[in-house]
Amino acid sequence: MEKQYKWSREEAYERMGTAERGLDPGEVEGSRNAHGANRLPEAKRPSVAVVFLSQFKDFLVWILLVAAGISAAMGKMESTLVIVAVVILNAVLGTVQHVKAEKSIQSLKALSSPNAKVLREGLKQEIPSAEVVVGDLLLLEAGDFVGADGRVVESNSLQVNESALTGESVSVEKSVEALDGGREEVSLGDRVNMAFSGSHVTYGRGMVLVTGVGEKTEIGKIALLLEQAKEKETPLQRNLDAFGKKLAFLILLISGLVFGLSLYRGNPLMDALLFAISLAVAAIPEALSSIVTIVLSLGTRKLAQENAIVRKLHSVESLGSVSVICSDKTGTLTQNKMTVQKLYFDGRMVEAGGLDLARELERKLLLSSILCNDAVSDEGKQIGDPTEIALVHLGDLYGMDELEARKRHVRLAELPFDSDRKLMSTLNQVDDRRVLFTKGALDVMLQRATHVQVRERIRPIGPDDLRAMEEANHSLSDQGLRVLAFACREFPEQGAPALEDEDGLTLLGLVAMMDPPRLESAQAVADCVRAGIKPVMITGDHKVTASAIARQIGILREGDKAVEGAEIEHLTDQELRERVPEISVYARVSPEHKIRIVQAWQDLGHVVAMTGDGVNDAPALKRADIGIAMGIAGTEVAKDAASMVLMDDNFSTIVKAIGNGRSIYGNIKNAVKFLLSGNTAGILTVLAASLAGLPAPFAPVHLLFINLLTDSLPAIAIGLEPAHGHLMEAPPRDAKKPILDRAFGMEVLLEGLVIGAVTLAAYGVGLSTGSHGVAMTMAFATLSLSRLVHGFNCRMDPPLGLRQFFGNAYSLLAVGLGVLLLLGVLQVGFLRRMFEVADLSGGQYLLVAGLSLLPLLVVQAGKRLRNLFGWS
Ligand code: ATP
Repeated sequence: MEKQYKWSREEAYERMGTAERGLDPGEVEGSRNAHGANRLPEAKRPSVAVVFLSQFKDFLVWILLVAAGISAAMGKMESTLVIVAVVILNAVLGTVQHVKAEKSIQSLKALSSPNAKVLREGLKQEIPSAEVVVGDLLLLEAGDFVGADGRVVESNSLQVNESALTGESVSVEKSVEALDGGREEVSLGDRVNMAFSGSHVTYGRGMVLVTGVGEKTEIGKIALLLEQAKEKETPLQRNLDAFGKKLAFLILLISGLVFGLSLYRGNPLMDALLFAISLAVAAIPEALSSIVTIVLSLGTRKLAQENAIVRKLHSVESLGSVSVICSDKTGTLTQNKMTVQKLYFDGRMVEAGGLDLARELERKLLLSSILCNDAVSDEGKQIGDPTEIALVHLGDLYGMDELEARKRHVRLAELPFDSDRKLMSTLNQVDDRRVLFTKGALDVMLQRATHVQVRERIRPIGPDDLRAMEEANHSLSDQGLRVLAFACREFPEQGAPALEDEDGLTLLGLVAMMDPPRLESAQAVADCVRAGIKPVMITGDHKVTASAIARQIGILREGDKAVEGAEIEHLTDQELRERVPEISVYARVSPEHKIRIVQAWQDLGHVVAMTGDGVNDAPALKRADIGIAMGIAGTEVAKDAASMVLMDDNFSTIVKAIGNGRSIYGNIKNAVKFLLSGNTAGILTVLAASLAGLPAPFAPVHLLFINLLTDSLPAIAIGLEPAHGHLMEAPPRDAKKPILDRAFGMEVLLEGLVIGAVTLAAYGVGLSTGSHGVAMTMAFATLSLSRLVHGFNCRMDPPLGLRQFFGNAYSLLAVGLGVLLLLGVLQVGFLRRMFEVADLSGGQYLLVAGLSLLPLLVVQAGKRLRNLFGWS
């Protein structure tokens, strides 16, 4: 092990028994058997038993257990058994849900887990990082995670950030040089010829011969000490937990009051206790937290089916309140399918096919576009950046094969593309000369060029050349074309060029390419605007090109502004805050600008979604409320920093995800309203009976049956309510507004009153027959059935039309199943005994059914009246 840090490149190859071609399948297998798989030991997760026990931490569960105890003391063994069974069942369900939710988050994470590029059998392949073995040749470029430990055998300005291991945030340059010192004398960061698992590439390119995988890596050795990042509770879950705690105290208080009142009225102790217990049981929304978890995880599954992988559960909630989307242009709003349209050189504009290769300048321009380029296009397969693939295709038009050209003019060194610098250079051997070819943004290039080539002549660049070049650039950009400038210079100096050497260049000309907007972008932008969401384009491209595309798809509208990154650099935070609302396009933006833009919108109280793909985008993705990484074009680092990953890199997927986010949040809110209004009805009935001096209208088991069984069914159905068009017509929800606000509370109370009133009516009719058993049974059946039917009221805010009524099959199924369960309890012998129900006559059944339908009619009529008179 010691010596591996000092291997020379040749020695390294030899040692590992691999050549430059990489491993073959047999060697991969052999290595895996000998050295193991590339998996880190998993951080310990709580066992199922621990999860099960943690279900009993809930205060509300303790109230139920006390209720069971009191029931037992009263000799009601059947009730006691039912309550205990319910508590245990609740804990089992909670455990199952916890384990399932964990699994579904893990499988979603696996969908976006890192890949690694390796060279095997001479071919570049992309494989899951876990499949890398010792001896593999790992290919690294900016934005990649280093998937294993290894010896650097090739480095093109390879810079790696090792902060995960060393805490040092400054990137370390890696080279193939062997160190003189022994291992003990150098710290991790000093081992310039080693790359370590867990770090990521910030710049350049390199190849690493894997020497350690999984637990044998440096990070593997400390992985057991690292706590796996725990999924935090979502704000909604926290909100509901806090509510649950308050509710528990309130329940205790009111139950105590009812108990006291009952005793005061001279009721026997046991009756008073029964009242108090009934009330406590009626009030506890036992199913609430599991319903929220179920709906949230079903929601993430739906989002995944629509190409949006949620990596953090809380983002499902935040999605619904997004009010600004800052999106990249290339590939997200556009198709990222570039084709060269026009070229400009020597004062002339020609079509893509119009070059005359007999002329030196035109030949040189074409050659530089092929040499200063990493893309390959072979038998219909294209590998590389679409901008560069377009240039390879330009070469194809003239029969210039990129691989042949690159073989003839060997690349000696390179300065990789970087979106901050907006340039890329290669040093090639052209005959007996060393030539530096540079391509990139014209504005940057003009600062570096000192000469221009006209025909065969190279002369100092003059004001007229500058003006002509800029005019050509402007007119091409105005047509929405992406313009790249090309330049070169002889490079007689020894060694590889550094960034400062991209200077003193001779400008050759411009190549303009078309990247058409995605067909669905304009519609998605229009949907955003209708939904009160501001779409903003943030791009590294030229302002004029960006504005032209933004205008085509509706982002840049009358009165909106387009600015360049450099312009906002001079603004203070306050000035930027004042300006962001009017700016729709930011061009020539660097990742630092992105952070400021997000911050400015957030300071104005907005919830911001921001897309990103590069390694430098990670901080902005983290800063945004919803960081969105590109699944196809995004780097592993960007994906890791994001809370959502788009599998199709498509802007319209973001808009769809926001629609889904709104719908999921709305469904959760409706399910909570449903559960709480039903419970309120139970509380009000018990309270009213107590105040009227009547005996308890329910046995605790009745309320448990309703709360846990019949009520859960419509609640889940409400959670599965399909998205309705009107959701994307309203402005975004205010993220700071709590779910349980005053208006919500009012609705819960009113709807609870209506259900409570019909239940009480049924109870009253039952009492008039002279049998408390019949009265209790009627109250129980009415409360259960009316709450099932009330599920329809809570599916959506507007009144239900006939089409919507049948639009959610789950909700019909829920009522059907609920009615069957209720009939089971009312009719089946042993269940009747357990639930202490009495016989009802046909007329009483009819009355129960009629009364239960009333809340549906009353609430729906109320909604129509509200709409009619415009009450809010
Ligand atoms: P977006 O930020 O919307 O994805 P973009 O692709 O134009 O847009 P960058 O990739 O940061 O953003 O590119 C910025 C600029 O750098 C481009 O406008 C172009 O001028 C130049 N550029 C892009 N790709 C290359 C490349 N492969 N080689 C040299 N220069 C490039």
